[in-house]
Amino acid sequence: MTDTNGPFLVLDRPAPELYLGFTGVDAGNLAYHLADSAPSRERVSHSREQLERAMGVRPGSTEYVTQVHSTRVVGAGGDEVPAEADAIVSASGSEPLAIMVADCLPVVFVSRAVGGHEFSGPTAVAHAGRRGLLDGVLQATVTRMREDGAGSGAGDIAAWIGPGICGRCYEVPEQMRDDGAARVPETFSTTSWGTPALDLAAGAQALLETMGVTVRRVPICTFEDRRLFSHRREPGRGRGVGLVWRTGSGTGPLPATTSTSSASE
Ligand SMILES: [Zn+2]
Repeated sequence: MTDTNGPFLVLDRPAPELYLGFTGVDAGNLAYHLADSAPSRERVSHSREQLERAMGVRPGSTEYVTQVHSTRVVGAGGDEVPAEADAIVSASGSEPLAIMVADCLPVVFVSRAVGGHEFSGPTAVAHAGRRGLLDGVLQATVTRMREDGAGSGAGDIAAWIGPGICGRCYEVPEQMRDDGAARVPETFSTTSWGTPALDLAAGAQALLETMGVTVRRVPICTFEDRRLFSHRREPGRGRGVGLVWRTGSGTGPLPATTSTSSASE
């Protein structure tokens, strides 16, 4: 996992024309709901434009949703977007997808179509905070991808768990830790200072692997690493995004790949 490439803190290329990435503070705040004035909304628009230029996709083509800590999944490319939801699936894999985060986990998915060899099937992004993760947003996303044509064999879907607050930093009340662990045991954790905590990434990995999804984890903690937005460290400062997109011939500057996600940390 290495350093910045334009607005991307992490960039990967799972297939020749298929990219995924995660942004940090250098890409600017990408959330309109944290922009409370006209100038700050303009800065969000500008940051989103810059991002799309770096992605090499058509301006305004990236699909976002209004995230509400639900398990609702919407399909890209139709009337469903923009909507209140916490995951987006592109059945064709062609629409650029974005999910906003600052401590919650951004999870980005690619897939092989049934019987296919390359990652040319449906793509998806999901927002997995404590509530969404425990309620099943990741399972709902995988289920929708399979309904939309992703293979159901082991490794037909691959997921990248992006930067989020880690299990050594995400302090919660003891009751909350117990409730979490009762539903997803792998979330049980303890902070580096010895208090109850939740490990969302460990929980996400376990849930996804149970469904036959190959998991890669980006071992960067948003709370510890100031290159990322962290709601706990600086509430309201901004949101980064997890992205997946496909480039076609002649769609503009292709970013060079500088980092490859490794297996779990
Ligand atoms: Zn941490």
